[in-house]
Amino acid sequence: MSTADEIEAAVTRVLTDFGSVAQVASAADRLRGGPGVPLSRAALVVWVADQLQNDGNLWLRGAWGRPLPPCPGHQHPANARAFDDEAWWVCPEVGEPVGRIGELAG
Ligand SMILES: [Zn+2]
Repeated sequence: MSTADEIEAAVTRVLTDFGSVAQVASAADRLRGGPGVPLSRAALVVWVADQLQNDGNLWLRGAWGRPLPPCPGHQHPANARAFDDEAWWVCPEVGEPVGRIGELAG
């Protein structure tokens, strides 16, 4: 996979957990040209998640003020972290992984 493909795959995983994949192409385009794209797969997914969380309201209409993604059972958003070469959502309160990025919903 090229880096461009990996970014698109990472964006798809993150936006799936945000609840909408409608903006995958435009979000991926926006991130592709930017600086600081990490090379390891898990780090890349975490980086994409951080970027998309910063401007989530661009990718989901009406998302302003909503936690993206919601931490299961809590009011706050989950944080993206890489552990063991896998990208996880982590509860910022207890510091425990709550699900792999891309697999939080369902
Ligand atoms: Zn939490």
